[in-house]
Amino acid sequence: MVENNFLNFPNKLSNTKFTSVTGYTETLKALSKVIYPRNIKDCINLIQDAKSNGLTICPRGKGYTYGDMIINSNEIILDTSLMKNIVAWDKRKGVITVQPGVTFAEIFKITLLDNWTLSSCPGGLDITIGGSISNNVHGKDTWKRGNFGEQVLSLKMINAEGNIIEIKKGSNDLFLSVIGGMGLLGIIIEAKLKLFKIPSPYVEIKNISSKNITETIEILEKEKNSSDFSVAWVDCFSRNNIGRGYVSLAKWIQTNKTVNNEILNQSVTKNKRIFNIIPSKPFWFFARPFFRPLNIKILNSINYYYHSKFTSEKNINIDLFTNYNFMHNKIPDIREVYRPYGFLEFQPIIPFACSIKNITEIIKISQKYNCESLLCGMKFHKKDDFYLSYSCDGISLGIDIQLAGRKQEIVKKFYNELFDYTSDVDGKIYLAKDEKLDCTYFKKMFPKYKKFLSTKNDVDPNCLFSSNMYKRLFS
Ligand SMILES: Cc1cc2nc3c(=O)[nH]c(=O)nc-3n(C[C@H](O)[C@H](O)[C@H](O)COP(=O)(O)OP(=O)(O)OC[C@H]3O[C@@H](n4cnc5c(N)ncnc54)[C@H](O)[C@@H]3O)c2cc1C
Repeated sequence: MVENNFLNFPNKLSNTKFTSVTGYTETLKALSKVIYPRNIKDCINLIQDAKSNGLTICPRGKGYTYGDMIINSNEIILDTSLMKNIVAWDKRKGVITVQPGVTFAEIFKITLLDNWTLSSCPGGLDITIGGSISNNVHGKDTWKRGNFGEQVLSLKMINAEGNIIEIKKGSNDLFLSVIGGMGLLGIIIEAKLKLFKIPSPYVEIKNISSKNITETIEILEKEKNSSDFSVAWVDCFSRNNIGRGYVSLAKWIQTNKTVNNEILNQSVTKNKRIFNIIPSKPFWFFARPFFRPLNIKILNSINYYYHSKFTSEKNINIDLFTNYNFMHNKIPDIREVYRPYGFLEFQPIIPFACSIKNITEIIKISQKYNCESLLCGMKFHKKDDFYLSYSCDGISLGIDIQLAGRKQEIVKKFYNELFDYTSDVDGKIYLAKDEKLDCTYFKKMFPKYKKFLSTKNDVDPNCLFSSNMYKRLFS
């Protein structure tokens, strides 16, 4: 499929068939013309071709965004995964210049050898730099270093006119709009990123168990000074000890352990087996009928009791950063288990003020509708100025639920109450994981959307760049 489409350049959009596309959760499907440009010229040709065919363009990286942000029904998806060259690496200054389809795995294979790292890396190895800029993604160190956009020095983008423009870091409207701009302003073709120096590519990891939400938040707060990364796992099923779980902390360390190409390659190679043992696809296929809230509730309890009994601050592990950060790689292909109906995730972020009360309330709302998160991660965050950024000085909570065996009306009541509560306490929902928010909630949660729209009107007045999410939220 890739080959057919990239051989189509130039001016052969009309020969490209519509194919089925979906987001990572696989709940929504649509038909689009998927085009794989190899270079800038291909992108410019496509823009002219799209305009003459009256079609809109939705850029795509690796397709790890959950919902309709990367769906463009009956229009064009421009997939940048073939534009994946590392243009320059200055290991003296720690500055890397990359094309948009370059992934975290590819960057770390080079920069960790020289003790430089990116901050705010999400949990997926394959996530691209174009996708990370456009969702201004966050990681386990976001509370300390801010979201991904903080390290963008400049980027190049092709606008709706087919011209290449350079956007430099600063407080200008275009920079503040394009970071977190969901691909709605143009095609990012290159980004220059500033990495930061680390003592070694290894981190020291420890876990601390917590009995309830108050303790969980206290540990996250108390350990801020002595850690570089933190994330809490929370058992959302517990009704007596809401927010119980454990906090995983890590910090960069100096060590005699060495690293080389082989070790790094192995660490960032996609696993086909769960914990390197069980073949993932057949396992998840057979696990499907058991992947229901009652069984997951039991697993959450076992996990909690295991950690409360065996987790000790004194048990410290040293591991390569990439092994620590990309834990999803240890449990590959997990979305197999949600097939054929897929899953939903809601990730509210709320300000620190009254966070214990508000997180408790959010967990209670999920319990009221039996929509407890099957696996829940909680993180601290830091505010930034990007117009559509998922950021605030506050806490986020990921609530993911399988759709198989659930009644749609109940799920709908659940998320509407969740959105009501989140917007009432000045929170937001993460758009990269959303497909249900309506434009009223969106406008309340992201009040700077007007500034974003004004930039869009300047650079793309005819809405060449679009998506189903854009139509849903900005209508
Ligand atoms: C396993 C997993 C773990 C995750 N963990 C986290 C996490 O810890 N933190 C977090 O913040 N997110 C997380 N996410 C969400 C993910 O980081 C974001 O959805 C990210 O944007 C996906 O990047 P992508 O390369 O797949 O791009 P896509 O999902 O394909 O695209 C994302 C956005 O970028 C735009 N885009 C892509 N390329 C370009 C380009 N060249 N020019 C202009 N626009 C472009 C698209 O139009 C779209 O709006 C996770 C997702 C998965 C599946």
